[in-house]
Amino acid sequence: MLASTLHGADWSALGAEALGHLQNLLRIDTSNPPGNEAPAAAYLERVLRAEGIPCEIIESAPGRANLFARLDGGNPRGGLILSSHLDVVPAEPELWKHPPFGGEVHDGCIWGRGAIDMKHFTINSLMTVILLKRLRLPLVRDVVFAAIADEEAGMDFGSAWLVDNRPDLLQGEYCLTEGGGATGYVGNRPLYTIQAAAKGVAWLRVSTTGAPGHGSMPHADNAVVRLGRVLARLGTRPLPFDLRPSVRTYLAGLAGVSGWRQRLALHLATVPFSSEIALRHGALGERVRALRALLRNTVSPTGLTAGHKENVIPSRASAILDGRLLPGTPVEEFLRQIRAIAREELDIEILRTIPAVVQEFESPLYDVIAQVVKEQHPGCAVVPGVLTGLTDAAQFQRLGLRTYGFAPLKIPPDFPYNRLFHGHDERIPVEGFLWGLQTLFEAVRRFCAPSAP
Ligand SMILES: [Zn+2]
Repeated sequence: MLASTLHGADWSALGAEALGHLQNLLRIDTSNPPGNEAPAAAYLERVLRAEGIPCEIIESAPGRANLFARLDGGNPRGGLILSSHLDVVPAEPELWKHPPFGGEVHDGCIWGRGAIDMKHFTINSLMTVILLKRLRLPLVRDVVFAAIADEEAGMDFGSAWLVDNRPDLLQGEYCLTEGGGATGYVGNRPLYTIQAAAKGVAWLRVSTTGAPGHGSMPHADNAVVRLGRVLARLGTRPLPFDLRPSVRTYLAGLAGVSGWRQRLALHLATVPFSSEIALRHGALGERVRALRALLRNTVSPTGLTAGHKENVIPSRASAILDGRLLPGTPVEEFLRQIRAIAREELDIEILRTIPAVVQEFESPLYDVIAQVVKEQHPGCAVVPGVLTGLTDAAQFQRLGLRTYGFAPLKIPPDFPYNRLFHGHDERIPVEGFLWGLQTLFEAVRRFCAPSAP
């Protein structure tokens, strides 16, 4: 833990202040769809203005608000952007123990949709810029607070729109957002990943065709049956093993901090013929699903459409596929892989593609973060990570921003963090949230105001 009066700041008062803001933000329902981030942005605007920090709210569409505040360090190009999304995925209140938009504290945790994903980071970024301002620390680069819309439903009103329409707001060199920074464990050892790469997206509609006919007289040329065969194959046969350099680096980092059993399993997982056996039997715990997905492109059927009447065999059946591509995979190659497994005539329509995030892991910012995390959590390991999912980093890279997934949060070993992500009863330990505030502040302070005592 940092000293309680680091840089003259009183952390217990700051903690109470931060917690109050997080509760208030969780009480603003920003479920996406429809998003409606405007009231949340208005709340943050009030807080910033009261501190004398100018900010700007930009609506990409009515109610879809993006907020930016920039602390001038005389170096906008070298700026560090702290970016979070204000929207959350919808919640089913009847299945929650405490209301998803109540911002209540129970059992040492703060409950609410968005507590993990990712309003805790919105507030910790907010408190970081407020604190930099209050303490008048001499900045050597700009620090930008960004709270944006629509990460959960395609980014068209958030990061994608901002990159296309207001790149000036995103001027900077580095960005921190979600994707890493929460405590994981290898054995008993705490582990933090700083995400530096992420898989890309290819959402597809695949269709099969066949002969129409009367439902009372089954025949073999049935589009629905054909599609069923395709999906059964795609659902049970993994796409080809493919070890990319960013994933190799991640696995090597993981192996370097693991015990011998896991180290062996991780090594065998990177060899094509032993990979699946190692994943299945190699004591890799709940990481297996993500590791398997990082060793190949993947495809998940997520939707189906066929037929319009009970007694008519339709001539066409379609499915939606959520395809995820390793950094460096051309879409054409991915489509070839799908066709090879499907072994049926397929019409493939590309609905949307979002490129993977690929960048160098190493940077001065990475080093500062790793150092601060190790000081803040003695005995922990820090490795550069690759994410299976998508974040705003995919859009930011179009501007050349180097974005790391690092939203610090301290999670105890027995806490069901992964299950709560987009799940019922989403919550975070209050103590871990405040640890995140101190960790983020110290990393930003050291990187952006290195001469401060
Ligand atoms: Zn998120």
